[in-house]
Amino acid sequence: MRTMTDSEDYRIREAIRIFQERPKQPTFACACLGPSNGAPECPCRMASIVQVDGVYYQISGNEKSSITAHRYQKFSMQ
Ligand SMILES: [Zn+2]
Repeated sequence: MRTMTDSEDYRIREAIRIFQERPKQPTFACACLGPSNGAPECPCRMASIVQVDGVYYQISGNEKSSITAHRYQKFSMQ
């Protein structure tokens, strides 16, 4: 039986896996024109955001440290 917590763990693992399999993109300037194609953030910020089952996860960390994912939350203040 899958619980809500199990699904969350599953999505987090998926988010990390998807992020790791993404081709590495050089840092690029998207000119920050803002979100496109229904994404919550502009393309350069979406580079570290992964969508799994309709839920967005913010990826943090890199290959040298452990990669973690937590639910993305859009803040109006930056
Ligand atoms: Zn941008």
